[in-house]
Amino acid sequence: MRFFYILILLICFNCQETNTNNQPVIAIHGGAGIILKGDLSIEKEKLIIEKLDEAISHGYEILKSTGSSTDAVIETIKILENSPLFNAGKGAVFTNQGTIEHDASIMSGENLNAGASTGTKYIKNPITLAHSIMTNSEHVFLSREGAEEFAKLQNLEMVEQEYFFTDFRLNQLEKQKNNPSKFGTVGCVAMDINGNLAAGTSTGGMTNKKWGRIGDSPIIGAGTYANNKTCAVSCTGSGEYFMRSVVAYDISALMEYKGLSLKEAVFKVIHKKLPSIGGDGGLIAIDNKGNIVMDFNTPGMYRASINKDGEKNIAIYLK
Ligand code: ASP
Repeated sequence: MRFFYILILLICFNCQETNTNNQPVIAIHGGAGIILKGDLSIEKEKLIIEKLDEAISHGYEILKSTGSSTDAVIETIKILENSPLFNAGKGAVFTNQGTIEHDASIMSGENLNAGASTGTKYIKNPITLAHSIMTNSEHVFLSREGAEEFAKLQNLEMVEQEYFFTDFRLNQLEKQKNNPSKFGTVGCVAMDINGNLAAGTSTGGMTNKKWGRIGDSPIIGAGTYANNKTCAVSCTGSGEYFMRSVVAYDISALMEYKGLSLKEAVFKVIHKKLPSIGGDGGLIAIDNKGNIVMDFNTPGMYRASINKDGEKNIAIYLK
């Protein structure tokens, strides 16, 4: 009998040790920009909200059933990449040459592992390539044909360029030939029940981009960053300015070295530092206590979150 009690005590002790009692938390974005009420048709608005809902609910279920934050980030972003509604995967914008070139990155806050790819044309889900680079190569950042060669070795799903072509983005290219713009990048940040943070971002970049242009999204520290000491961040906006401001890492550094809260750090970067050099956009972030911040200096940002209490929030415009 005594042995039985000791066994029960040991089991309970073990449970306490492994269950750090974190509630899962997740946030996503589908891009920031000039999204004004009335510009989107009611039908399109509904489609976007439904897709954000589907993606965040899926990611949350993964976290609830003890999946890692990295897995939740990948699977959530895949849903957004497979939708033509966002500037990532299937719905990516056209380059000046009439091609599609994807950028993606992922980072784990647990061990600061990271993977990123740029300029790939045939990978169906670029976030899976970024993840394979992180886990199965000794590198962090691969580009263009080399990245695709690696993807083949990893048996990642490849498609023809035509798979990514949509009429909506083609019209956008025609309209914006002389006025490059960006919009609709996707990203996800998550905290799992072990308290591990992860962040990922995936994009087609800017409509009409030339000369192999690379934005902030695949650059660790600029568009994506995660560190269990501080926070996980995924950005969207005018990539050139986000790179010059090293936005995602700056949020983490302001928390680590200056002791700012996540909210204060994001406010400083998005509403003070970035606009002071002409940058516009926004970001989603989760700190290591599970607090969520989704902030932007543009009229709108497609976004959704589920907090520690399981409350879901989906929004497009500035309230
Ligand atoms: N930041 C992305 C880029 O510059 C674009 C976006 O977020 O919409 O490539």
